[in-house]
Amino acid sequence: MTTKTQDRPLFPFDNTFAREMEGFYVAARTAPARSPRLVAFNRELAEELGLDADALDSDVGARIFGGAELPDGATPIAQAYAGHQFGHFVPQLGDGRALLLGEVVDRNGRRRDVQLKGSGPTHFSRGGDGLAALGPVLREYLVGEAMHALGVPTTRALAATLTGELVQRDTVLPGAVLTRVAASHLRVGTFQFFMARGDVERVRKLADHAIARHFPELVGADDRYLRLLEGVRDRQAALVAKWMQIGFVHGVMNTDNTSISGETIDYGPCAFMDRHDPATVFSSIDRNGRYAYGNQPYVAAWNLSRFAETLLPLVDDDRERAIARATESVEAFAPAFAEAWIAGARRKLGLATERDDDVELTNGFLAALLSGSADHTLGFRRLAEAVLGDEQPLRDEFEDATALDAWLPTWRARIAAESRDPATVADELRLANPIYVPRNHRVEAALDAAVERADLAPFRELLAVVVRPFEERPEAKGFERPGPKDAEPYVTFCGT
Ligand code: AMP
Ligand code: MG
Repeated sequence: MTTKTQDRPLFPFDNTFAREMEGFYVAARTAPARSPRLVAFNRELAEELGLDADALDSDVGARIFGGAELPDGATPIAQAYAGHQFGHFVPQLGDGRALLLGEVVDRNGRRRDVQLKGSGPTHFSRGGDGLAALGPVLREYLVGEAMHALGVPTTRALAATLTGELVQRDTVLPGAVLTRVAASHLRVGTFQFFMARGDVERVRKLADHAIARHFPELVGADDRYLRLLEGVRDRQAALVAKWMQIGFVHGVMNTDNTSISGETIDYGPCAFMDRHDPATVFSSIDRNGRYAYGNQPYVAAWNLSRFAETLLPLVDDDRERAIARATESVEAFAPAFAEAWIAGARRKLGLATERDDDVELTNGFLAALLSGSADHTLGFRRLAEAVLGDEQPLRDEFEDATALDAWLPTWRARIAAESRDPATVADELRLANPIYVPRNHRVEAALDAAVERADLAPFRELLAVVVRPFEERPEAKGFERPGPKDAEPYVTFCGT
C-alpha cells in the first residue's frame, strides 16, 4: 500500500544506497502495526527536510512512521554491518531492528537518511524481535534532540510512534518506532563487514560512496582513501571533544556505533554525568568501564584504527607502506582531539585568546570539579556569575571548594588580562555552558509516566526544556538540578 497527498509525494525520495549499493543490504519489510499513533513529531526537522509537516502530523504520518504503510518512493532495506563490540569482533550485525526507508535532500542541499527503528525483524535480526519499546524510543528522541540543541552533530528524531502492539522484554511493554534521520547510516562496522569477508572491491565501492556523500571534495583525488580516513578522524575528534565538554557518556562506543559522517549515533545506554568524574559509567553491561567518560577519546582512536585496517588495501598496494601511512594518519587523532578539546575549553572558560597554559588552566578546573564533587554542567555554568563578581553560586556547587579556591585567582587573572567587558564574557559563558541537560532522574520520570501511565506530559515538558539548553527561564526552574544525591547509582540498559 502506498500513500500520497495531491500530486506531491510526501517524501521526495532519492535513494542512492538502494540504487547503487546492491549487495550491501537486504530488502526489508515492516511489521504490521494495527493502530499506530504519533506520540511525538518534530515539525521543525520535517520542515528542514522539505517535508509537509501538516500532512505528516496526522494519521497518515502515524501510519507511515509506525510502519503500517510505505510512503511512495520508499525502498525499505536493512543495511549490512559488522562491528567490534566491547573489543570483540562480530562479523555480522546489521540492521536487526531498523530499516532504511530512503534518502531525501534537505532544504540545505544535504542528503539525509530516513530510517525506521523498531519496525520489525529483518534478515539481520539473529533471533531478536526487531521491535522497540516506547521507553527507549522516547529516550533516544529526548537525548538526541538535546544533543542537537547543544550543538553536537547527531542523528535526529523525526517522530516517535506507538504501534499499538506489545513488546516482550522483562515485562510486556508498549511497542514503538523511532523515525531517525541521519547524514547517513554508514558506520566503521559497515566497512568491517566487507573487509572481514576479504571483499576489497566492495570496500572500495563503499569508500567511494562514503566519499561522494560525506567528503565530496575528495572525489577523484589520488590519495582519497587515506584522506577519507583523515576526514573521519577529524570528525570523530571534533565529536568526542564535544561530548567531553558537555559531560556526555555514550556508553556503547562499539565500531558499529561509530558513524562515518561524524554524527553521534545510537542512544542506548548513554547519559549525562552529574558530578564530574572521568570514571563515570552508566551502562549495566560496561563492567570494566571500557566506555567510561574519561576513556572516550581513547576509544574513538581505537575505533579509528579499526577503520584504518579496512582501508589498508586501498591506501597502498604495498602493505608495509599502507600500514606506515595509515598509522601516521591515525596517530594524528590525539593532536586533532587535543585541538578540538582546548578550543571548546577556552569557550567554556570565557577565554578569547590562546595561551600555552590554557590546558593547565582547564585541567585545574576539571580537577577542582572532581575533588570538590561538583556538578559538571552547573560547575561550568556558574562561571558566568563568577565572572561578574558573584562566586557564591559557583562555590555552592562544590562539596569541598578547596581546590576551586586555589584555582579561581589564576582564572580571574587570565580573564582580567584580556581586558574585556565582564558582561560580554558572562554572555559568552552562558552561550558556551548549557544550564539544562537531560538529567537522568528527569528522563526516567518522563519515560515512566509515558510507559506506566500513558502520560506524555512530562516527556513533552522535558523535551521543551532541553531543546533550549542555554537560555535560563522561569518555567524551567528546577530542571537544571541533578537528581537527589542519595539516589541509587544511575544504571542504563542497552536495547531499543
Ligand atoms: P545496538 O546495541 O543498538 O548497537 O545494536 C547491536 C545489534 O543488535 C544491531 O545489529 C541491532 O540491529 C541488533 N539488535 C538489537 N536489538 C534488537 C532486536 N530487538 N531485534 C533484533 N536485532 C536487534
Ligand atoms: Mg547500534
